[in-house]
Amino acid sequence: MTYRAPLDDFRLLLNHIVGFDSVSKTARFEDATSETVEAILSEAAKMCEEVLTPLNRNGDLDPAVLENGKVRSSNGFAEGYKAIAEGGWVAVSADPEFGGMGLPLTVTTAVNDMMVSSNMALHLNPLMTQGQIEALEHHASDELKALYLPKLVTGEWAGTMNLTEPQAGSDVGALSSKAEPNGDGTYAITGQKIFISWGDNDFTENVCHLVLARLPDGVAGTKGISLFLVPRNIPDADGKPGEANSLKVVSVEHKMGIHGSPTCVMSFEGARGWLVGSKHDGMRTMFTMMNNARLGVAVQGVGIAERAYQQALAYANERKQGRTAEGSIIGHADVRRMLASMKADTFAARAIALSVAVALDMANATGDAEWQARAAFLTPIAKAFGTDTGIEVANTGLQVHGGMGFIEETGAAQYVRDVRVTAIYEGTNGIQAMDLVGRKLMDGGEAAYKLLDEIEAFAEGARATMPDLAGPVWQASENLRETTEALVAREVSDRFAVAVPFLRGFARVLGGYFHLAAAMAKPDGAEAKLAAFYIKRLLPEHLGLLAHAREGADDLMGISPDDLAV
Ligand SMILES: Cc1cc2nc3c(=O)[nH]c(=O)nc-3n(C[C@H](O)[C@H](O)[C@H](O)COP(=O)(O)OP(=O)(O)OC[C@H]3O[C@@H](n4cnc5c(N)ncnc54)[C@H](O)[C@@H]3O)c2cc1C
Repeated sequence: MTYRAPLDDFRLLLNHIVGFDSVSKTARFEDATSETVEAILSEAAKMCEEVLTPLNRNGDLDPAVLENGKVRSSNGFAEGYKAIAEGGWVAVSADPEFGGMGLPLTVTTAVNDMMVSSNMALHLNPLMTQGQIEALEHHASDELKALYLPKLVTGEWAGTMNLTEPQAGSDVGALSSKAEPNGDGTYAITGQKIFISWGDNDFTENVCHLVLARLPDGVAGTKGISLFLVPRNIPDADGKPGEANSLKVVSVEHKMGIHGSPTCVMSFEGARGWLVGSKHDGMRTMFTMMNNARLGVAVQGVGIAERAYQQALAYANERKQGRTAEGSIIGHADVRRMLASMKADTFAARAIALSVAVALDMANATGDAEWQARAAFLTPIAKAFGTDTGIEVANTGLQVHGGMGFIEETGAAQYVRDVRVTAIYEGTNGIQAMDLVGRKLMDGGEAAYKLLDEIEAFAEGARATMPDLAGPVWQASENLRETTEALVAREVSDRFAVAVPFLRGFARVLGGYFHLAAAMAKPDGAEAKLAAFYIKRLLPEHLGLLAHAREGADDLMGISPDDLAV
């Protein structure tokens, strides 16, 4: 099961579709020239293809386990992690002041995409660290930054994110972990956290937990929560991991997928922690990490979709069944349909994720609120559509294999199992959709309409050369505009019932836009044929989705729990 990094797709997307040239024109990212980016992506691709890919199966077959209170990672993962850390791939975008490469998040996003394809379970470890680095860069004191960031950036230490508790999942405000001041500027953290990805490992010198907990004077709900940095080993006077902190991994979950990633129940028993950001402002502070992680999880969907597609394509080219001109099942129309759908949706999801990264880079480089609003609007779409695409593509990939897909040895089933969680963690996809129709439409739809203006202007420009493709994209954007207007006019609570179809409808239209741009960039290439496939056969799905989204909440909520009873 080999993996070939999709470098041509990255070139097309960065150079012609998501506007990366604007990023490299800013003073902040002037070093990110196309030559540098090309060299970075090629180097990362090599590591992913040669080092991480061969370890992917090990994670599945030899899960991380808890042995004598310590996590033992899957066979080979320590070596894989070493390659990631030594290559500098943990901190592509981190501040050079602390040893990072300082490159745009767009580059990190492309590198993460390749690392996920090659080994999602292992990559989840540096992904958590990336988020922690960003949260500390923005909110930690200078002392904490100086002590922790250089170690996290090199990957010598790893970072985790501790929000979830048994009674506090989507409702983070219900958490009960406590923080008591120790009187010396530090805090004693007590509580139990569940589902903590890479809560421990056996290949970094230290593990640094970002933990949400409530101070004695913290009010109930999300407004009373503060954020603390709680290291497994407390750094000594030389900044080396010293005395063990009062925390432990209680157990490691037995899961459906990503077996190589230990999902831990953590117990904090008066563990020493340091406040990050202001008191009672932990949710806002943690959001820096969560937004980063949302884009990271979007890319988990894309990366697995890519890997599942590559494997299904190889199988379809080899498997002989029935008579076809090509000599294999790729000649059958239905197999061709499955492969084209997989490729077209993966492209759309990747383009959406990269355009979030470009918007974040532009916001970062220019301070322009419009870029920030665009990134904020697109993030839940990228997360939900990226991960739904990962799930669908992995599932279709299994179908392409016929019975062999159901046999574990083939490997197609691992992608289905691994990717499933991506729609659940980092805010379920339902919660993402509620964020889109709630908070992200609080501007009266301004960010949404700006995107639709851009799509329509592009489609107008493309009409002369590609009327068959440009026309439907323009019309789809108009349909979406009408539905967006209808939603904006409604009470927020009424929008929640239709949040999921609205989000997916939006993603479908964005996909049409990006495919049209690809067709315009490569009118004689396979890209134009794939764009025609997407626009004619997949884009029309938006009509049904938007019809659903225009319905209110009454009929849905009129179906009572009694009506649903069996
Ligand atoms: C493998 C794995 C790794 C994880 N890693 C981490 C980690 O590193 N750190 C961490 O802190 N957490 C982690 N999590 C936890 C994860 O973020 C939560 O599982 C997720 O937020 C959902 O919470 P929950 O499981 O309690 O589900 P619930 O909140 O109980 O949700 C159940 C269902 O109800 C829906 N729902 C809930 N509230 C609402 C609402 N207000 N409106 C509409 N629908 C709603 C949800 O969408 C979902 O469909 C991980 C989970 C898993 C499975």
